[in-house]
Amino acid sequence: MRKPHAILVPYPAQGHVIPMMELMQRLVKHGVKVTFVNTNFTHKLVTDAFSEDEKLNDLASLVSLPDGLETGEDRNDFGKLPDAIFRVMPEKLEEMIKELNAKGDDFEKVTCIVADICMGWVFEVAKKMKIRKAAFWPAAAISLASLFCIPKLLEDGIIDNKGTPMKKQMVQLSPTMPAISSLEFTWLGIGDLKTQEILFNLMVKASEFVTLADFTICNSTYELEKGTFTSYPEILPVGPLLASNRVANQIGHFWKEDSTCLAWLDQQPARSVIYVAFGSFTLFDRTQFDELAHGLEMTNMPFLWVVRSDMVKDTQNDGFDDRVKSRGRIVGWAPQQKVLKHPSVGCFVSHCGWNSVLEGVSCGLPFMCWPYFSDQFANRMYISDVWKTGLVFDKDESGIVSREEIKNKIEQLLGNDEFKVRAIDLKEKVAVAVSKGGHSDKNFSNFIDWIQEKDT
Ligand code: UDP
Repeated sequence: MRKPHAILVPYPAQGHVIPMMELMQRLVKHGVKVTFVNTNFTHKLVTDAFSEDEKLNDLASLVSLPDGLETGEDRNDFGKLPDAIFRVMPEKLEEMIKELNAKGDDFEKVTCIVADICMGWVFEVAKKMKIRKAAFWPAAAISLASLFCIPKLLEDGIIDNKGTPMKKQMVQLSPTMPAISSLEFTWLGIGDLKTQEILFNLMVKASEFVTLADFTICNSTYELEKGTFTSYPEILPVGPLLASNRVANQIGHFWKEDSTCLAWLDQQPARSVIYVAFGSFTLFDRTQFDELAHGLEMTNMPFLWVVRSDMVKDTQNDGFDDRVKSRGRIVGWAPQQKVLKHPSVGCFVSHCGWNSVLEGVSCGLPFMCWPYFSDQFANRMYISDVWKTGLVFDKDESGIVSREEIKNKIEQLLGNDEFKVRAIDLKEKVAVAVSKGGHSDKNFSNFIDWIQEKDT
């Protein structure tokens, strides 16, 4: 038997790199050598943000390739980055693998590739080089299923060939799955029609590439998405892949964590703190940002709020910081998994990015949902309609979530223990899935067997 050496390729965005890094940590624990391929840009962010006490296992190495964009170009622009990647990375990846294989040492030879489905072109490289390949989906299975359904949605006239819904309607992708709104498909909800079309085409391509993979794993849990996994048994849930489940530190951050907020949390009463975080991508305009600030102030409760340096332009300081300084804490980037686990945290105001959802669920927290784009709407649907562990902020007629709405809904959420009871129940179910012999644990063992080329 050859010694296993896996190449891991995430999509270069924070919510994709973190779970792929966690996958790397699991693989090296099982004796698999891993070469983790970031883009040069994300590699620098990750290595700069690495904390001093973090040491990678000797089996793990972090390498990087160019993403095809120039220094200073906007890497959050879907109109640019995926195309640039597709132009330069396949050839570079192939060269890199050839170099590794040429090293002579048997342990260097690449035995398989695990790639994010958003980097589906990797499967073509693997096919060309006759390397075994597995697909990794870092989000909910329902959003992957929605990609698989694109041909049917087109055929049924639910969307046009740019992904635009023909009308607003509830759509059930299969009889076992919950209905989602046609206005909330994974490729919708951001930017103008052009951006939407680009995102749609990217997803069409991804759903075609994934058919090349020998194995498809998903960072989700059967118990969270029974209906979807029943209809799509080829998607194997192995999650949640969270560092907190291994009692380890989460790695792969693009920003340095401000851990001082943990000591601040220690001083707050149990379940009293509103944790507010919108992941790595969400932007706010000034008006909405100010409403949120006032809404948090009006709750009269302690809050910990993550405001990334790039999240809002030109905030106005109207004395907010002074008024809330005895009970409010603002950080640029939090050690989120540790924060959510902290007994002082009572609820999670979230954009419903899938990693944040898994992290909040695993800590038994009720959610206030504020989705921003893409799969976050389907994730919101799970929280509010299926699991019933949270509420949704509604926008007023001018498209704003008002300060009153923020205050009232948070009070409603925290004033009703049923949300917490259901959240704890869900947490326990998910914990069983990742414990020895649980659904996700078994799938993960099969995946390791596949990597080690044992019969599965
Ligand atoms: N995160 C963090 N600190 C923060 C905010 C977010 O560590 O202050 C982490 C969070 O734990 C999660 C990831 O960043 O693992 C964000 O992923 P998610 O899918 O929730 O959202 P995205 O950034 O993709 O929109």
